[in-house]
Amino acid sequence: GDWSAAVGAIRRFLPSGRVLLVCHVNPDGDALGSMLAVGLGLCRLGAAQVQATFPGEFEVPEPLAGMPGLDLLVPQERACADPDLMVAFDAAAASRLGALADRLERAEATVALDHHASNTRFAQVNLVDDGAAATAMVAGDLLDRLGVEVDQAIAECLYVALATDTGSFKFEMTTPRVHEMAARLIATGIRPGDISRRVFDTRPFGAMKLFGEVLGRAALDPAAAAGHGMVWTYVTLDDLGRHGQRPHVMDALIDPVRTVAEADVSVLVKQSGDGEWAVSLRSKGAVDVSRVAVALGGGGHRLAAGFTGHGTPTDVVLAVREQLDHHVL
Ligand code: 5GP
Ligand code: MN
Ligand code: MN
Repeated sequence: GDWSAAVGAIRRFLPSGRVLLVCHVNPDGDALGSMLAVGLGLCRLGAAQVQATFPGEFEVPEPLAGMPGLDLLVPQERACADPDLMVAFDAAAASRLGALADRLERAEATVALDHHASNTRFAQVNLVDDGAAATAMVAGDLLDRLGVEVDQAIAECLYVALATDTGSFKFEMTTPRVHEMAARLIATGIRPGDISRRVFDTRPFGAMKLFGEVLGRAALDPAAAAGHGMVWTYVTLDDLGRHGQRPHVMDALIDPVRTVAEADVSVLVKQSGDGEWAVSLRSKGAVDVSRVAVALGGGGHRLAAGFTGHGTPTDVVLAVREQLDHHVL
């Protein structure tokens, strides 16, 4: 099946093949963590030429800057143009790999690890489990099947990935298997308290001031989503600049927004360019926001999805509001 095809494709190019690992644009903890875990695993198996990269601006978000395996990262300009083996992580579609998607044609073997229901099966071998809480679950299985012993460095990468996509083991996909995997990882001696504080609970004073401003202008629309309610706010590049913050700081803002009791759906509109916005959508269960995102050109999961919007924040949120009624579950 797919597992033996994936293991075969990887073994074929060890130890001397050119291996290129890629994850989605604006990498999060799951994208980077599952990619670096497999990267470190391949190195343990003797792989001599392993590069890891992602499209877009070459910046690792500050909270992830302490992750093991970061020395495998190269900017996309330095990534091998014609790898023997390419492995993609946490990307639902080739478009999420930006300019690096051209290697899918040129690589001899391509494997994708993912957990999005909307995954388009763009690789030769697709290890896609839409019941998995994180790509890290798939990455952990692959490492087992490759016979890699999970050491502390690999465990820390997988733990960050798993904790990121489960909202620190809070979201509905937090199955017994997730906790079994977490238990295995913690048993290697990694320190969950230190990792969580560093990755999720540390940010500069300016970020708190920025949050105050952005949360202060949130708006509640109780009639949206057939009466299930929507809460939304926006953050601009100018807001970031005034508080001296980097773009990744915007991503954490969805968490306080989604706590609002009066709204099933929360929307965060984050400026990414001139009239261009990265939109985060969350639902507590009344709406399938992956369908809302797909209708607007994006994708994601049933309760967490996103897309790129255009115009003003009000234009973007009106487009979302219009779609919500069509996707009430
Ligand atoms: P977030 O709001 O945390 O950026 O993303 C939530 C989920 O939606 C993630 O699973 C992510 O993969 C997906 N997602 C976010 N933005 C986009 C987008 O522009 N296109 C697609 N296809 N998926 C997205
Ligand atoms: Mn991701
Ligand atoms: Mn993920």
